[in-house]
Amino acid sequence: MHPTVKLQKSWFKEGHTKSYAFRKEQLLKMKKMLTTFEKPILNALKFDMNKSEYEAYASEIAFLKSEIDHHVKQLKTWMQPTKVKTPLTHTGSKNFIRKEPYGTVLVIAPWNYPVQLALAPVIGAIAAGNTVIIKPSELTPTVSWVLKKMIEQYFPPHFIAVIEGDKEVTQKLLEQPLDYIFFTGSVPVGKIIMEKASKQLIPVTLELGGKSPTIVHKDANIDLAAKRIVWGKFTNAGQTCIAPDYLYVHHEVKADLIRAMKKYIQQFYGENPLDNEEYTKIVNQTHFERVSAYLDSGTVVVGGSLDESKHKIAPTILDQVSWEDQVMKDEIFGPVLPVLTYHALDEAIDKINSRPKPLALYYFGENEVEQQRILNSISFGGGCINDTLYHIINPHLPFGGVGESGMGSYHGKRSFDTFTHEKSITKQTTRFDQNFRYPGSQLGMAVLKKFFG
Ligand code: NAD
Repeated sequence: MHPTVKLQKSWFKEGHTKSYAFRKEQLLKMKKMLTTFEKPILNALKFDMNKSEYEAYASEIAFLKSEIDHHVKQLKTWMQPTKVKTPLTHTGSKNFIRKEPYGTVLVIAPWNYPVQLALAPVIGAIAAGNTVIIKPSELTPTVSWVLKKMIEQYFPPHFIAVIEGDKEVTQKLLEQPLDYIFFTGSVPVGKIIMEKASKQLIPVTLELGGKSPTIVHKDANIDLAAKRIVWGKFTNAGQTCIAPDYLYVHHEVKADLIRAMKKYIQQFYGENPLDNEEYTKIVNQTHFERVSAYLDSGTVVVGGSLDESKHKIAPTILDQVSWEDQVMKDEIFGPVLPVLTYHALDEAIDKINSRPKPLALYYFGENEVEQQRILNSISFGGGCINDTLYHIINPHLPFGGVGESGMGSYHGKRSFDTFTHEKSITKQTTRFDQNFRYPGSQLGMAVLKKFFG
């Protein structure tokens, strides 16, 4: 067994993680850790991805602190056993669900929000009373190093440990007798994780990606739609799992929408975004080349400039794109936004339904009947009406995919539930015994027929 897994499993068995007091203390410690390490975290995010201080603080540190506050406030209630009804057949007994930790959890994180996506699952896992091993992404090595240092300073390795490394390291960890695996990353790697987990029947949550459509109908408030789409798409230079991947626009409003998006791109990022010190870069050369290649699809109508030395790609809008272009085959995961058009909403619904179920979907339009039609007829992880990304920061909304975009969800109470095994208990009375269940009972058949006949 891997020494850290062995250490954590034996420490977990001793029961240290189970009390409310312990869990609460650890959550508060994590909040303190984020405050102490605020500067190193922001510096590392700047170094690895050129994230601006505002974006980095809002999307990584503030998000985590608010998750911790929510957990601390609700933890006592969440931990209580849930009493359930006692049917007549169970008269005399008490029936309840105990909330138990799984044991040792592995959290595998991607590089795009490398602090938030490594630690948000950890908040749920420790609130639920587990020990945790974090495997951060090797593509943001400075952040990964800071994560290791801060966790080592605040938590002992038998409780929380960071194991750095690439896919070989991850594959070795997946062979360990873990109790839960929480994976955030791409669809192809998600399939590998699930296959490996199945060998030992380890439960998994898969937070994956894919192509998230943004529909803009003819009755949308075009100026506001443009502003919210530009924000959602180009935050973190499009390297957001729930960023609008492509725009699907009613043909009558396409020209107005593109014009308005161009205005907001200039307003948010300046005349030359490549020189904007606050604009996030593409994480590495491989991804820079991958995203740059999408500029060969369709026609560039906004942006299109590149700076290879800085790994920056300007916010770009592509027109005249077809469903056969490469940009419409892969998840883009970069600041390139293709625009396609439809004539009738049914056409858009059918097209989206013919593709894998998206992680997110955004619909812009004022008519409530049409909003309902979208919600009723397309399956997707989660999303917004008349906005982008905003659903992810409400701790009362579980976050996760469906179909190819993932399985399971987290945030807020759903994080606690994800890392909790619900143990169902019937506590039977010994004051009397009902004989109808035993062989030979004349009453048995009559009771069965009465209740289930
Ligand atoms: P990735 O799948 O390449 O890597 C994720 C993690 O898996 C990393 O820690 C990596 O070291 C590990 N890994 C990579 N290859 C592996 C292999 N063969 N075996 C075992 N482990 C392996 O993803 P990424 O490039 O880091 O992140 C981008 C992807 O993640 C996008 O598809 C994006 O949509 C998705 N994503 C999803 C969410 C979500 O919450 N649903 C959030 C962020 C990113």
